[in-house]
Amino acid sequence: MLTKYELWNFKLPLIPPRSHLYHIEPVGIGTPLVESLTGYVARLAEAHCLPPGVLMERELTSVFNKTYGSNNLHKIYPFTGALNGTGVMAADLRQALQILTLRNDLQFLTLLTWSELLPSRNLLRSIRAWCPTCYEERCTTSQLVFEHLLWSLDVVKVCPYHQQKLSQKCPHCCQTNYVLAWRSRPGYCSKCLKWLGMPLGTQISAYQNLEEHDLQFEIWIAQSVGELLAKAPYLTPLPLKDSIAKALCSYVSQVAEGNVAAFARQLQIPRNTVWVWCKGENQPSIKALLRICYCLKISLLDFLIQGVKSANSFQAVRLLPLQSKLQTRASAKSFDANKVQQNLEAVLESNDSPSPSMEEVARRLECDRRTIIRHFPSLCHAISAKYLNDRKAILLRNVQQSCDEVRRIALSLHNQGAYPSEARVSEQMSMPGYLRYREVRTALQDIQCQLGKC
Ligand SMILES: [Zn+2]
Ligand SMILES: [Zn+2]
Repeated sequence: MLTKYELWNFKLPLIPPRSHLYHIEPVGIGTPLVESLTGYVARLAEAHCLPPGVLMERELTSVFNKTYGSNNLHKIYPFTGALNGTGVMAADLRQALQILTLRNDLQFLTLLTWSELLPSRNLLRSIRAWCPTCYEERCTTSQLVFEHLLWSLDVVKVCPYHQQKLSQKCPHCCQTNYVLAWRSRPGYCSKCLKWLGMPLGTQISAYQNLEEHDLQFEIWIAQSVGELLAKAPYLTPLPLKDSIAKALCSYVSQVAEGNVAAFARQLQIPRNTVWVWCKGENQPSIKALLRICYCLKISLLDFLIQGVKSANSFQAVRLLPLQSKLQTRASAKSFDANKVQQNLEAVLESNDSPSPSMEEVARRLECDRRTIIRHFPSLCHAISAKYLNDRKAILLRNVQQSCDEVRRIALSLHNQGAYPSEARVSEQMSMPGYLRYREVRTALQDIQCQLGKC
């Protein structure tokens, strides 16, 4: 009689390949809020408890086989904006990161999808830009803080969500940052390492030097570019180089009966320049494309995508003269004085807090702010005064809360045996941006002294 033994399976289990660096998921792919590749590097470095400079130099060196030194941040500081762009630097970094993280969606954190259409000249900023309120809001709602790809484009001057100018100078050390620096960290200054977030309305110069219609134009630009970034993962086929020339020729025949000179005159662009674009010998910059799209009243995305389709699928358009901008749209609407007056009075009587600004009221009424002011100066003045008072009260309240919070955090750190340094305290604050106020800093210094550490 033979003995039966149990069977042993010596086949190795199937183990999926492991990535060398963390397989961190990028933020916002397929939305206008998509993260930038340089911002991704900073987050990846933070996850590994390394400064991005060290990550680039030590880890990426092994997979970069180029000699121009894309991995050596010191050598490429002024050009780090290009790491989010359409060229070889962005392509190399994406490839290196793909090998190390095993992520195959990193091209959408750059403009590589649009490399055939967007000339690199003046496309990207060499200096970092950011919206302090985007940082602050994500931080206060405990969401991941990241750098938006939208902010890296030179043509985008405002945040389309908070309708304020992007910042380029740290409010603490007054210095600018490179797009990717040795100590870059999303939401923080790479020079003084302090928090860059600020609540809406506290950035005093938000609307400085921007007329209402200019602001609306800048918001339109930011939204149009955002649409491009959001569409990138869903494009099949990818737009080809001749899309722009095809689209332009079609629009010239539609709106100017094929007369390039007349078309160029209305756009206020030299005739020869438009001629060269139409022949496909040269590509217009993104700024020029946006100007054309604005006049044609179509989105930049529609313009670029339609170039891929057949010429007769173009929508019928009429060229809008550039000078009139959005004023035309505002004045075209009839001004209903009764309705506007009722609304203004309702705003003044309302107990809503915070009370809206005149910009906000005008936006809600879909009227030009200056037209409203011309008709109802005293009501508008009262609304602005109420708005400013509210903002002041909110600011004072937040400063007071931050002072109390700073004392609480410092005490708790002290009880845990840790020195209540500014960096440690700000890490735990719900609104770390408020540390730039004198009252909050004094509260921190006082408690540090009381705890016998100064
Ligand atoms: Zn914002
Ligand atoms: Zn700084």
